[in-house]
Amino acid sequence: MGIFCAGPAPGQNGEMERHYFDANATTPPLPRVVEVMARAMAESWGNPTSTHREGQRARHLLEEARREVAASLSVAPAQIIFCASATEALYLLFRGLQPALGDKPALVFPGEHSACLNPLREWSGVRWMPAAAEGAATVVQMAANNETGILYAMPAVPGAVRVKDAAQAWGKVPVDLADCDAAVFSGHKIGGPRGAAVLWLRPELPWKAVLEGPQERRRRGGTEDLAAILGLAEAVAALPGRLAGHAQLAPLRDALEAEVLSWSPAYAVIGRDQPRLPNTSSLLLRGKTGESVQIALDLAGFAVSTGSACHSGATKPSHAITALGFAEEEARSVLRVSMLPGTSAATVSALAAALKRILQPPLR
Ligand code: PLP
Repeated sequence: MGIFCAGPAPGQNGEMERHYFDANATTPPLPRVVEVMARAMAESWGNPTSTHREGQRARHLLEEARREVAASLSVAPAQIIFCASATEALYLLFRGLQPALGDKPALVFPGEHSACLNPLREWSGVRWMPAAAEGAATVVQMAANNETGILYAMPAVPGAVRVKDAAQAWGKVPVDLADCDAAVFSGHKIGGPRGAAVLWLRPELPWKAVLEGPQERRRRGGTEDLAAILGLAEAVAALPGRLAGHAQLAPLRDALEAEVLSWSPAYAVIGRDQPRLPNTSSLLLRGKTGESVQIALDLAGFAVSTGSACHSGATKPSHAITALGFAEEEARSVLRVSMLPGTSAATVSALAAALKRILQPPLR
C-alpha cells in the first residue's frame, strides 16, 4: 500500500464538498504550473551547472525563466536570485546585509512575518516602528500583512537600505519596487509551487553571499530546482489575470464583513478603514476563540485560518494583531478568511451561513 492510499481527496467519493478560504497560507498550483513542472521533471532534469548538452538545455530554460520573472517585476534578470522559499530569501538577505548593517540602527515594522523577524534577532540596532526614522541605515516594511491584509507604504528614510517583503502582496495587488532596494516573493502564494521564490537585490547593496556555491552567480549555492522555477515562471505569466481576479473579490469580502458585523456589536473587522488586500478579512469575534470557530468551520467544509498558518499549533496570540494595539484575548478571537481568485458569491454566502450557525446556533 503506497502513501497515496490514505483515502479520497477532499470533495471526492461522496466526501463533503470543501471550500478553501485560506489563500494567504498557500494557493493551489495552477493546472498549467503542474503540467510544466511534470514535463520539466521528465524531460529537463539536467543540472544547469553542467557543461554538456543536458546541462545547457536546463541552463537555457533557467535563464529564460529568470528573464520572464524579471520582466514581470521590471528589473534586470541578473538582479533575480532564485531561492526555495521567501523564508530562505529573507534569511539570505538579512544574514548577507548583517556584516555591513547589523550593528547600525534598523527601523522595523513590528507586524512583519516571523520569517523576517527571525534573522533580525541577530541585529543589534533594531528599533520598532513608529520609532523615529532619523539615522536608520535599514528600513524593513512588508507590502501587505499576511494576517490582516493591511497594505503598507515604504517609509521615506533618505540613505537607508529599504527592504520589502512582498510575499503576500504579490499577485493580489500591484507591487512597486521603485521605493525599495531589496524584496522577496514566494511562488506558492501566486498559484506557483512550493520550492521556488525570489530574492531581488539592487546590485549596489552592501550584501555578501551566505550560502556559498557557484549557482545564481555565486549568490545562492545549491543546484537549482529547475522544475519549481519553471513552475514559478508559469505562475508569473498568469499574474495579470490573477490580479484582475483578486480585484473582483473586494465586493465579496465587503459583503461578508457587513454580514458578520450585523450579528453583534462586539464583532469588528481589523483594518476595515485602511487600504487592504481585496481577498482578506481579519474578523475579530470578541467572546469566541478563533481556534474553536476555525475547527467548527473545518468540520462544516470550510478551510479558514486563525492567523498566520506558520503559527498554527502555537497557543501564543498573533504578534501581528497585538502589534496593532489589540489585547491578547482579542488577538485569540481573530478568524482570518482569505479568498482565492475565482471564489463565487454563492460560496461566500455559504461560508457566511455556516459561520452564522456556529456563532449563533439556533435555539432548540
Ligand atoms: N512573508 C510573508 C508576509 C508571508 O505571509 C510568508 C508566508 O506566509 C512568508 C514571508 C514566508 O513565505 P514562504 O512560505 O515562501 O517561506
